[in-house]
Amino acid sequence: MKNYDLEKRRLVLSAVAIGIVVIYIIRLFALQIASDDYRKSADSNAFLKKIEFPSRGSITDRKGKLLVYNQPAYDIMVVTNEMAGHLDTLEFCKALNITKADFINRMVNLKDRNKNPGYSRFTQQLFLSQLSDKDFSAFQEKLYRFPGFYIQKRSVRQYQRPIAAHVLGDVAEVSQSDVEEDDYYQPGDYIGKMGVEREYEKDLRGVKGVQILLRDAHGQIQGRYQNGKYDQRPHPGRDVQLGIDADLQELGERLMEGKLGAVVAIEPKTGQVLAMVSSPTFDPRSMIGKMRGKYQHDMTLDPAKPLLNRAIMGQYPPGSTFKTGQAVTYYTEGIVSDSTRYPCHHGFNFKGLHVGCHSHGAPIALVPSISTSCNSYFCWGLYHMLSNRKKYKTLEDAMDVWRDYMVSMGFGYKLGIDLPGEKRGMIPNAKFYDNAFKKWNPLSVISISIGQGEVNLTPLQIANLGATIANRGYYITPHVVRHVQGKKLDKKYLEQHRTKGSVRSYQEVVAGMVSSVRGGTCAHAVHPGYSLAGKTGTAQNRGKDHSVFMGFAPVDTPKIAIAVYVENGGFGAEFGVPIGSLMIEQYINGMLTDGDAARATAIQKRHISYPFKRPMSRTDSLRLDSIKRVNIIRDSLKKVREKQDQAEAERVKEAQARKDAEEKEKKRQPQNEPAIRVEPEKLIKPEKKAKDKGGDKKEKEKEKNKDTRKENKEKPKVKEKPKEQPKGKPKEQPKAKPKEQVKEKPKEQPKVKPKEQVKNKPKEQPKEKSKVQTKDKQKSKETVKRAK
Ligand SMILES: [Zn+2]
Repeated sequence: MKNYDLEKRRLVLSAVAIGIVVIYIIRLFALQIASDDYRKSADSNAFLKKIEFPSRGSITDRKGKLLVYNQPAYDIMVVTNEMAGHLDTLEFCKALNITKADFINRMVNLKDRNKNPGYSRFTQQLFLSQLSDKDFSAFQEKLYRFPGFYIQKRSVRQYQRPIAAHVLGDVAEVSQSDVEEDDYYQPGDYIGKMGVEREYEKDLRGVKGVQILLRDAHGQIQGRYQNGKYDQRPHPGRDVQLGIDADLQELGERLMEGKLGAVVAIEPKTGQVLAMVSSPTFDPRSMIGKMRGKYQHDMTLDPAKPLLNRAIMGQYPPGSTFKTGQAVTYYTEGIVSDSTRYPCHHGFNFKGLHVGCHSHGAPIALVPSISTSCNSYFCWGLYHMLSNRKKYKTLEDAMDVWRDYMVSMGFGYKLGIDLPGEKRGMIPNAKFYDNAFKKWNPLSVISISIGQGEVNLTPLQIANLGATIANRGYYITPHVVRHVQGKKLDKKYLEQHRTKGSVRSYQEVVAGMVSSVRGGTCAHAVHPGYSLAGKTGTAQNRGKDHSVFMGFAPVDTPKIAIAVYVENGGFGAEFGVPIGSLMIEQYINGMLTDGDAARATAIQKRHISYPFKRPMSRTDSLRLDSIKRVNIIRDSLKKVREKQDQAEAERVKEAQARKDAEEKEKKRQPQNEPAIRVEPEKLIKPEKKAKDKGGDKKEKEKEKNKDTRKENKEKPKVKEKPKEQPKGKPKEQPKAKPKEQVKEKPKEQPKVKPKEQVKNKPKEQPKEKSKVQTKDKQKSKETVKRAK
């Protein structure tokens, strides 16, 4: 019996022992092989993961001319575990041409996990980046003497010509947030920061490769892990072709030299952007390598704001170029017809309101009103549209129909170009005016009919208006990239957007723009060998007016539509027309005639002086900011404290009064009384807070209103009422052919600002959507202000 027990116990014990061993073996297996295999062990001593960077895609212009390519650069990497104790620091510093202090500094930063979160003693860490070819070859010869150091080849961007910096964008080291958002990136990697480089980052960057190498106990490389079974080859990035014509772009940048503003050219049939100039610009080559940070910093302090892409971020009053869109709206809605003629007594005169115009034949019909850019015609058109109670039930309805036309033309919202940072401009609607004015009527908003007042467009939107007219009523969303290697173009860049305007209305506008070139405001436009349609604009401004031009050519088979916007450039004919028409000539003829080449040089040399203030240094602006912030906090704290004190005093007073009353009562009935309830503190506090908040808001609103008041201070020039007021529609005038007295000097300076607008100052802040719009507008005004 005993023997049998012993036998049994032995069996149990050995079974347990075997069980434990088996479990251990399974655990070991799981740890060593099954769990994520090499990935985890690659971080250990035995493996070395070597990243192979793909070459970034190149960027070419529409004719295949190279704009951006790659140049090899070398990073020095270090595995600190291998380096320790073996390095002759002095010799190393000499080989790399750095100081010992620099060496120590770099090592400290590299090991600091706050600055370099991916630090590990066993993996390669970036020691020095972007070594030039020359420095690299000197260092490479001595590399074998510095154990633990490796060279990693990668490429940096290089630019064939110093043009199109805003479109191309740039490439720089990833930020902490880039690494967190996309696990493709590791600290020290490169990423597109602006322009096409950023928008097409995923196409351009390619796919990284990796080599897994095996090391022995001494850290020496033994070869590839499992013969490279787990290695991945890098895939190069996709090449990108732009719609930009490099020669046209270069001419545009030359013509805009010394001026603030933008030029956008579009191929109407495809929506491809042919040129996009934002002035001032900068040399994209300055944004490569170690100096990038310094250049970028300098440019952020420059009051001319060279980093701002005005073509898509500048929001400007479109001035008279906007009249074309008005003509389309009035005509399609049946507000005006071929036989409509409007009077112009040196402008629009009605109910004490005067909007100035230059002298020309009147009454005037649609086509000549475009070619002479008559303010009166478009004011009357809008007036009759907004006060037409047969067609539109209310003023608000009429206003919203107008808004719908504008939105259908691509205004008021982002067009959706393939570049980061596009702004939407501003198209007011009925709700906006309901909020801005207590009461408003068609005259309160009349200035929007001539592209002033609340209306704002980006130069891209003005160019797109030109493309839409060239297409007689449709546009394709403008885009800068024409083709991505091995990929189809995004569908949204192929769709046609029809506006609400009829084809017939667009034909009228085209006739007006052609006549404008023949003998109207664009008479000085050059167009050797092809037909041209154009419209000038002179956008009112507190300083000197802005010079604007919009046009396209050839008239019947349009190849190019263009918008030119020159800040403080004066009349449209002064800068807008020559710059726009020279660029059209360059694109259509592929070159300029000798005479026009000389004209181009003259325009290039004509610089506009802007009253820039001394740029505020970063420390100055930071200090000013912090002073402002401290003052705001101090004031609001003071108010809160005052209110608290007041409330506290009242509370004490009340409590005392109650106590007194209670004691009186007690004296009268000295028996068990229910306790008198005193208002708990909690109930008072939230109320107080709400009040305080309200107070702060009012303060802010007051300040905001102050600003708007300042802007409205400019008094409108109201001339005396002309005795003969045209009552109702002055349509169907005898078909007396309006003399087309077109003078060379196109004075299109409207001297507007309706009285009502000044009287009914927007005391209340517009709410919701319109509030956002106003903010946008204020911002844009600020940017323009700051730019001056
Ligand atoms: Zn006129």
